[in-house]
Amino acid sequence: MKPAPFEYIAPESIEQALAALAQYGDEAKILAGGQSLMPLLNMRLTTPGVVVDINGLDELNYIRQQGERLHIGALTRQYRLERDARIRQTVPVLAAATRLIGHPSIRYAGTIGGSLAHADPAAELPAAMCALEAELTVVGPSGSRAIQAVDFFQGALNADVRPDELLTEVRIPIRKNAVWGVREYTRRAGDFALAGAIVLAEIEADRWANGRVVLFGVEDRPLRVSPAEAALTQQALSDGQAAGVAAAAVNGLACHADLHASAEYRKQLARVMVKRACLDAVAMRDGKKGQENMTGSA
Ligand SMILES: Cc1cc2nc3c(=O)[nH]c(=O)nc-3n(C[C@H](O)[C@H](O)[C@H](O)COP(=O)(O)OP(=O)(O)OC[C@H]3O[C@@H](n4cnc5c(N)ncnc54)[C@H](O)[C@@H]3O)c2cc1C
Repeated sequence: MKPAPFEYIAPESIEQALAALAQYGDEAKILAGGQSLMPLLNMRLTTPGVVVDINGLDELNYIRQQGERLHIGALTRQYRLERDARIRQTVPVLAAATRLIGHPSIRYAGTIGGSLAHADPAAELPAAMCALEAELTVVGPSGSRAIQAVDFFQGALNADVRPDELLTEVRIPIRKNAVWGVREYTRRAGDFALAGAIVLAEIEADRWANGRVVLFGVEDRPLRVSPAEAALTQQALSDGQAAGVAAAAVNGLACHADLHASAEYRKQLARVMVKRACLDAVAMRDGKKGQENMTGSA
């Protein structure tokens, strides 16, 4: 199928983009990498009157370090997140999570902002943003808002960005001595995850600090699991204790069911993914696995 007819606008600045969004409101859709929007347009699952193509906004395409934070423009392509030297050095878990998105051709076109604004519950970048405690900037007619990643994702395909707003930037705190693991289970390489987990912590005097455990693909948004984070943080984690963190992560979890997985199966997958991600982090701490060997797939 082909998309329903729409008017096409290609703004040359953020101001022009915001003016177009203000003028057309609900009628307008922003086009970034098009990897989620184009299929929806082609299948006529969305029929906007106006498409606002932001690909000309070079001012939204950057990766910069400012002090102890990494600033990433919303139009930065996903492939840059996997390859950029600063990201691999300062927040390597982001590069690893990005590598699990679809296929290379999708990551060449897809943007970080598009993935976050699309808010697919099984997507890797929203989960990574929650694990990294990122802050997102959204600009609109009345100025800019800063939103914590965990608050930005409000449900399946539902993010805290209004039709007259533009997601412009992501800011990620850089933390030293971090160990991590990213694991997901997919039916075929490149598919969306049936269930996935990101585990992240810092090593302070042989103990794990600031543990973060995020599940994705299991509920309607990425999920930080406090009991698992507490279990991760309280100890100098060993292989044997990873199972306890995984059990805490899925205790009481109400997964959704679909054609591919029952709720119980998904819960079991989530448990296994957390355990494997913990074991990756333990291996990283013990120097048995470097970042480059973190494949991430189940
Ligand atoms: C075959 C296939 C497999 C895929 N597999 C995966 C996968 O495994 N994991 C995964 O995470 N994703 C996957 N994707 C989706 C891919 O990551 C998309 O790139 C991403 O979801 C959307 O990014 P985009 O830049 O292409 O945005 P677009 O498709 O252009 O836009 C997506 C949505 O976000 C809005 N939007 C875009 N940019 C902004 C902005 N700056 N401010 C406000 N709203 C904005 C658009 O209006 C639209 O509603 C897959 C896609 C395909 C086609």
